[in-house]
Amino acid sequence: MERAYLEGDATYNGLFFLGVRTTGIFCRPTCPARKPLPKNVEYFPTAREALVAGFRPCKRCRPLDADDQPPWVADLLAEVERDPAPRISDGDLKARGIDPATVRRYFLRHYGMTFQAFTRARRLSGAFHQIREGEPLDDAVFESGFDSHSGFHDAFVRTFGDTPGQSRNRDCVLLSWMRSPLGPLVAGATAEGVCLLEFSDRRMLEAQFATIRKRFAVPVVPGSNSHLETLRAELERYFAGTLREFTVPLVYPGTVFQLRVWEQLLTIPYGQTRSYQELAAGVGDPKAVRAVGRANGMNRIAIVIPCHRVINKSGDLGGYGGGLRRKQFLLDLERTSQKNGEPAA
Ligand SMILES: [Zn+2]
Repeated sequence: MERAYLEGDATYNGLFFLGVRTTGIFCRPTCPARKPLPKNVEYFPTAREALVAGFRPCKRCRPLDADDQPPWVADLLAEVERDPAPRISDGDLKARGIDPATVRRYFLRHYGMTFQAFTRARRLSGAFHQIREGEPLDDAVFESGFDSHSGFHDAFVRTFGDTPGQSRNRDCVLLSWMRSPLGPLVAGATAEGVCLLEFSDRRMLEAQFATIRKRFAVPVVPGSNSHLETLRAELERYFAGTLREFTVPLVYPGTVFQLRVWEQLLTIPYGQTRSYQELAAGVGDPKAVRAVGRANGMNRIAIVIPCHRVINKSGDLGGYGGGLRRKQFLLDLERTSQKNGEPAA
């Protein structure tokens, strides 16, 4: 299986699936995403087993999609991916004009479990966070919908590599996806604060995950905490033009020089811009324009640490990791909101 995966051998598609422990995602053998270290890969004979072990389906190779998939299946899968928490009952299905018996047959045939079992499996990743927050194990088992402690325990260990009890003493980086007018963002936070905010299509994202794992030396798992919820609310107000200063705590480990640059970025007021030269002067090293540009590009907390407010001396935009279209949008948003005299936050 490892050889077939490394070679991207399409003849093995459907014969096995693989889960990537560091991202919690499972894939087909031919997934085009960058291949993880072999020690972080787990193999499963069926998509069902990958799901039960707590892995989420990959958005690139879409391991749950079948060629003959009816549109209502795609809708249901998308709904569960958006938010696996709400229970979708037979009554809910009927209200949408979907026959529960058809749903049951389809999920059993394609994924080896009922629709209800499918959504239960998708809720597991949330349980990790709950346990770390110190909530009683009984509640976590109940919330994630597992019928027995041992079933929960086994699935948990296969996914996260240690037992629910041990996880209480470990930190982790929790990842959440957030919507924005500029496309989805991925945000990460530790117990101390937000450490990542990136456009989720950004090519650098995988490298950023790797840096985060290295810098924090903790697992990166899907989930949320109060910092991520604060960020979500603040971003909404920022994009509505009613928030000028973020208050969410930030964690941004880096070199001494990077820290000077990032802290300088945090002093650029809303709606204003600085040139790379001004930024270099601000960190007390007017000649280090290129190094300042590089540190600016290494900023891991887009928007909140406003690297988009740095432009070329000539007035043109310069570069932006999330793409120039987005940089222009953010600058226009801030200028327009300021002109309209929206209440400052
Ligand atoms: Zn994939």
